[in-house]
Amino acid sequence: DRMFPRPKTRRVLTVANQKGGVGKTTSTVNLAAGLALHGLRTLVIDLDPQGNASTALGVDHRSGTPSIYEVLLGEMSLADAAQTSDQSDRLFCVPATIDLAGSEIELVSMQGREARLKEALSDEALNEIDPDYVFIDCPPSLGLLTVNAMVAAQEVLIPIQCEYYALEGLSQLLRNIELVQSHLNRNLTVSTILLTMYDGRTKLADQVTNEVRNHFGDTVLKTVIPRSVKVSEAPGYGQTVLAYDPGSRGAMSYLDAAREIAERGADA
Ligand code: ADP
Ligand code: MG
Repeated sequence: DRMFPRPKTRRVLTVANQKGGVGKTTSTVNLAAGLALHGLRTLVIDLDPQGNASTALGVDHRSGTPSIYEVLLGEMSLADAAQTSDQSDRLFCVPATIDLAGSEIELVSMQGREARLKEALSDEALNEIDPDYVFIDCPPSLGLLTVNAMVAAQEVLIPIQCEYYALEGLSQLLRNIELVQSHLNRNLTVSTILLTMYDGRTKLADQVTNEVRNHFGDTVLKTVIPRSVKVSEAPGYGQTVLAYDPGSRGAMSYLDAAREIAERGADA
C-alpha cells in the first residue's frame, strides 16, 4: 500500500560488524524485505560464505550456483548472478556459495583486490537490476571481503546487539572504516546504527542502548529491534520475518526501521 520515499540517488549500504551473531544478516534481509514491501527495488549482496542471507531470502546457493564469487572473479555479471526472491518481485539477491570461503586468500594476489566489488557494482551493472537500495551483508571479519564491501558502498550500517560486550570491538571497526575512508573510499560514512536483540526485561539492554545513543547520537535509529523467537525461526523456512509472520513484533520493528532509513534517505 503506502510507498516509502524513493531516494534521489541509489543508496548502497554495507552491513558490517566483525563480531558474529550481532544481527547483520537478520537486519540485512528484513530491512531489504521491508523496503521492497513498500515499493522500493532492493538488492541484497550476500558476501558471507555461510550464505545465510541467501537462505533467508529463499534463494538457491548450493555450490555451483552462479554467485557473488564468480562476480568478484570477473567471470559473470551482477545481473546474471542475481535471483529474484519469491517473497517479492522487487527483492533481489546475489547469493553466496561456499566457494566464497577461499576468496579472502584468492583476492590477495588479484589486481585491484580491494575494489573488485566496486567494479562489479558499477552504475552500468546495477542499472540492469535497477535497485533503489543495495545492502551488502558482510562476513564476521575485517578481511578483504569486508574491505571490498566498504569500498563499494557510500554508507555503513552497524548492527549492535544489546548485550554484554556490545561495544567491544567497535573501536576496531571504526578505525578500519577510517582507514578505508582515508585510503580507498572518501565518500564512506557511518550513516546508520541499529540496536538489535533488545530484551526489555534486562537492565543491561537499557544500559547498552543509552550508552550507544550517548556516543553515536542521531546515527542510531529510533527503532530498536526486540529479541523475538519469530525472527530466529523465519530463516528455517527460507523466509524473512516479514513473510513468515508479518504481524509479529519483530516484523513490525524491522518495517519501522526500514521506514526510518527510507525517510532519512529522502532528506539526504
Ligand atoms: P550475524 O549475521 O551478525 O552473524 P545473525 O543475523 O545471523 O547475525 O543473527 C545471529 C543469530 O541470532 C541468528 O540465529 C538469528 O536468527 C538470531 N537473531 C537475530 N536477530 C534476532 C532477534 N531480533 N530475535 C531473536 N533472534 C535473533
Ligand atoms: Mg551473518
